[in-house]
Amino acid sequence: MQQKKVIRTNYHTHSLFCDGNSEPEAYIKQALKNNFLALGFSAHAPLPFENTWSLAHADLETYCHTIRRLRTNYRSQIEIFLSLEIDYIPGVSVDFAVMQRRHKLDYMLGAVHLVKNPSGEGYWFIDGPRSNYDNGLKSIFGNDIRRGVETYFAQVNEMLSTQKPDIVAHFDKIKMNNQGRYFQESEPWYQKLLSHTIEVIAKNHCIVEVNTRGIYTGKFDGLYPGVEALGQCFELGIPITVSADAHNPADLNAHFAETEQILKDIGYRSIKVLKNNKWIDWEI
Ligand SMILES: [Zn+2]
Ligand SMILES: [Zn+2]
Repeated sequence: MQQKKVIRTNYHTHSLFCDGNSEPEAYIKQALKNNFLALGFSAHAPLPFENTWSLAHADLETYCHTIRRLRTNYRSQIEIFLSLEIDYIPGVSVDFAVMQRRHKLDYMLGAVHLVKNPSGEGYWFIDGPRSNYDNGLKSIFGNDIRRGVETYFAQVNEMLSTQKPDIVAHFDKIKMNNQGRYFQESEPWYQKLLSHTIEVIAKNHCIVEVNTRGIYTGKFDGLYPGVEALGQCFELGIPITVSADAHNPADLNAHFAETEQILKDIGYRSIKVLKNNKWIDWEI
């Protein structure tokens, strides 16, 4: 039987430095077993307030040093990349370009997990347990889901146009904790927000991450972004990567084979891989 080509990279990986469950080297060993070409570490960048899931400010240098050391140690077997998943919070987060220069990051993943209260203090934490989503929606947006979702996408759009991350992570993650309770993804106002963000992505030449984490954790029965949105990305010629958003070495290629088939059905024939500081096409 002819050997099937498979996705052999993952650029979205969380280790013990943030909310992952293993030392970085355990992910590398698993990546080698998976026959990966490359593995990128993307700890949650430090945040200006205490939390349980991001890298601590005090650990940032050690994190960078550790990943660079591993890159050298494994150079002959696999390419290791240093990155951060940086949360964009208007007026609060450090400029992405400054972060990249300061820490010599190979690439940047941009994400919005915390929607800034447009009229006061506090954040709507859209990830994590469902109770966070429900409580924030109530306390910050008075349960006005449309205003909450509009604020989320406005923050994503502002990140794309002002920070220009190499990769935009799970850009429709706002749907995860909704689960059809406050809105339906088929509603025209939601579809319009999604389409507009896809246009902003195209305009700013960002790579869209196709993220499988919802499926293998059972938190959302579909990809981030969904198949319909990916169809629009394809129409606009937006390049993609596939990532597991791994928090455990066993996650590294979770649901990749099925995702590859979905992408081929949409029309995609290649994904982006990082080679010599350039994102090049890798045939799938
Ligand atoms: Zn994330
Ligand atoms: Zn992540």
